[in-house]
Amino acid sequence: MNIAVVGAGIFGLAAALALRERGHAVTVFEQGRVPYERASSTDTSKTIRRLYGHNAVYVDLVERAAVKWREWDRRLPERIYVRTGQLQIEQSFRPGFRIHDSWQFLRARDPDIEILSIEDARARHPQFAYQESDVCLYDPWGGYLASGAAVVGLLRLARDGGVAVREETPVTDVSDGAGAAYVRVDGRAHAFDRVVVAAGVWIGRLVPGLARHIRPTRQEMVFIEPKDPDWLAACALPVWSVNPEVDGWYGHPLQREGWMKIANDLRGDTVDPDDARPVSPVFVEAVRDFVAARIPELARGAVVGSRACLYEDTPDRHFIIDWAPGSRSILVAGGGSGHGFKFGGAIGDVIADTLEHNDTGTGDFFRIGRRFQ
Ligand SMILES: Cc1cc2nc3c(=O)[nH]c(=O)nc-3n(C[C@H](O)[C@H](O)[C@H](O)COP(=O)(O)OP(=O)(O)OC[C@H]3O[C@@H](n4cnc5c(N)ncnc54)[C@H](O)[C@@H]3O)c2cc1C
Repeated sequence: MNIAVVGAGIFGLAAALALRERGHAVTVFEQGRVPYERASSTDTSKTIRRLYGHNAVYVDLVERAAVKWREWDRRLPERIYVRTGQLQIEQSFRPGFRIHDSWQFLRARDPDIEILSIEDARARHPQFAYQESDVCLYDPWGGYLASGAAVVGLLRLARDGGVAVREETPVTDVSDGAGAAYVRVDGRAHAFDRVVVAAGVWIGRLVPGLARHIRPTRQEMVFIEPKDPDWLAACALPVWSVNPEVDGWYGHPLQREGWMKIANDLRGDTVDPDDARPVSPVFVEAVRDFVAARIPELARGAVVGSRACLYEDTPDRHFIIDWAPGSRSILVAGGGSGHGFKFGGAIGDVIADTLEHNDTGTGDFFRIGRRFQ
């Protein structure tokens, strides 16, 4: 088939690579130049973890994704997948809390996942200031993906594999009818057999029936250059989170740029995708307070940058990989809901299988069905 993919973020690129591998002719349309500053995938780093409570769909999918990330990492000149382990510090550890459910679920498949005593946590990861009430889960499987470098690398692999890529080419409309799907660019409609809309926070602009089900929220992050980089380097520091569901803090070890990313997963303001995205001084102050309390050595460092990026939340925070309402030739792939990047290694096949009417291995999990009613 002749397939258009709108969007060169992780969902679009993963789809393009999988569809091309299956022999389809693929054209990617991207409104910006990759890595596009305003795309959610364009960031220094994203966590790859498998703490998903009892949710076997996500755990299976991320384990599948990791195999592909490893392969892409080998093929690309820049390191894009770094396994550091994951440390999650929580205050509550009982059934019904995600950390407890994840631990219960994962220890059955991997004995290496551990609940550390405070003494062990202190000995292994002395960068943190622990509180006596902390519960520390350590999963050696976790790590981070150098997401900005990854999208650049995947675009290159796509091009090398024969995908046609049209950057700086905004699609103004998608439609279908008479056995074809159309992508409108510069006032002209181009016909394809199928169109995949992987337009991130902009999906609602092209598929208005989904506009109210994808909520863009502004998420801020701060980059801090430590005084003593060795103390905080990747070999010693895992990806981490502190009370992620209550306080939201998480971060990554020292990046190649020389700083650490500190961010917050609690939902920010709902915004328009094209609004300016300033980082508020209040957030920077909150980061300083958090770091002083929990990573004291880093508090001596300098804030060298900040950034705001948009989550694209569906009401249940699960992705959408399904036909657009009323269509059988326009497929929507997105709704990453702040956790979609890590699945890039597997999501392309889920999208391609949905498009080819094959078994995706994920059942109806990402179908729209009655989810939003
Ligand atoms: C601050 C932050 C931290 C995150 N942390 C993590 C994490 O640690 N781990 C994790 O797994 N996930 C994380 N995520 C979520 C993850 O980044 C997203 O779910 C994922 O990147 C979404 O990818 P996407 O391809 O759907 O969207 P995008 O990356 O936004 O790509 C969509 C692309 O479509 C293009 N486009 C849109 N409209 C048009 C049009 N009309 N014509 C042409 N092109 C168009 C855009 O320019 C864009 O390039 C985070 C997100 C944010 C914002």
